[in-house]
Amino acid sequence: MKYISTRGAAPVLEFDGVLLAGLARDGGLYVPRSWPQFSAEKMQSLKTLTYPALAFEIIKPFVGETIGDADLRRLIDEAYRGFDTTEVAPLKKTGENEFLLELFHGPTIAFKDMAMQFLGPMFDHVLRQKSRRVTIVGATSGDTGSAAIEACRDRDAIDIFILYPHGRISDVQRKQMTTVKAANVHCIAVTGTFDDCQDMVKALFNDEKFRDRWNLSAVNSINWARIVAQIVYYFWAALKAGAPDTQVSFAVPTGNFGNVFAGYAASQMGLPIHKLVVGSNSNDILTRFFESGTMQMSGVHPTLSPSMDIQVSSNFERLLFDLFERDGAAVKSAIDGFRKHGTFVVSKAQHDNARRLFSAFRFDDTETKAMITEFLRETDQLLDPHSAVGVAAARAAGRHPEIPIITLATAHPAKFPDAVEAATGRRPALPTHMNDLFERAEKTVILDNNLDEVRRHIIKTLERAL
Ligand SMILES: *Cc1c(COP(=O)(O)O)cnc(C)c1O
Repeated sequence: MKYISTRGAAPVLEFDGVLLAGLARDGGLYVPRSWPQFSAEKMQSLKTLTYPALAFEIIKPFVGETIGDADLRRLIDEAYRGFDTTEVAPLKKTGENEFLLELFHGPTIAFKDMAMQFLGPMFDHVLRQKSRRVTIVGATSGDTGSAAIEACRDRDAIDIFILYPHGRISDVQRKQMTTVKAANVHCIAVTGTFDDCQDMVKALFNDEKFRDRWNLSAVNSINWARIVAQIVYYFWAALKAGAPDTQVSFAVPTGNFGNVFAGYAASQMGLPIHKLVVGSNSNDILTRFFESGTMQMSGVHPTLSPSMDIQVSSNFERLLFDLFERDGAAVKSAIDGFRKHGTFVVSKAQHDNARRLFSAFRFDDTETKAMITEFLRETDQLLDPHSAVGVAAARAAGRHPEIPIITLATAHPAKFPDAVEAATGRRPALPTHMNDLFERAEKTVILDNNLDEVRRHIIKTLERAL
């Protein structure tokens, strides 16, 4: 399998190269040159597999020849061994033709683990093959950071730096990062927003001298290997809900477009997906795009679902590449324009094309809380605020009598206990493996929203470890 950049001017790479590169050299994102195809017959044969066995079948064509079958099976088994249920991602029926896919059974109780727990062992394996070390630098709006840290902690070939917006993530999210006792883990609180953190990470990657000296690598949702791991659970849930004999729809709470892009990939691979329903909070840049065909930046508003408080949806560039019929120069010019003027527009035909598969809805905090309350009354289950946005989107899309709709539940309610308690009066308990989180000591630094200061801090830390 060969990978090309969405901006058309970076080297073509194999899976291992894409895994380590993260962002492409031309600033674009890697995508497969063509989508592997799964026939209905093939999908029927996958229905009874365990999660790791299914993951092997889905991931294998993306990996190509770069990792042998036995190694790949072992790495996938390692990835999902730490989950608190052997099902890995349980699918629960919550109403007539309505399902919830629980993606929060990994070590940090949010869906990022589904991809990160896979990425950690893969990185380690490929680095050892090549006798290399890397420095992972990432930005987090809350959940990616802890998931990345859990995946990379104590791995000899990796140093990991995670930037997060100071004071803008939940206590649980921060503690999950800053209490990890591992010499290769470094947390940085930046006095800015998530987008400031993300921009800084991009700038560090664009600093060739720095990037090459320290072998920079990314585990942000732009890393293709994360998308690959996320494609698996779309197949997993759809096959359980009746595919390929019936179509299914998914509702996905999203900000960065990473999770739902994996659903798009699954549909390109032959999974019969009727609709992908995007759920936004008040940071509704995606919903506005699907309504209007215009991508238009606006400020970031803090909400009850902070992992979706973003202004720029990085992974959207991958969809744009397909909407632009894989014309890298056209993508580059749209994104350059977006960076400069805060906006770009697609043609009517491209917009219609996007709307064939996607629909989108936004919900403010009041509506999110109301959804949590309503869902508790109906099902006796607590939703975290992100998952509540997802369920609200599924319901806004309208229940179809023949097509099951599956909402992706992206976090355990205990990860956002204040919002859940405010909505319901109930305070969700942390799972037992996290009982003592609030007693553990924290280690982090607070830095100004200043690229030079952050770069200096990273270099100093790495030089000290040499
Ligand atoms: C990261 C995250 C999301 C959004 O994921 P995208 O990559 O933006 O699609 C939603 N919910 C939770 C709990 C998250 O951690």
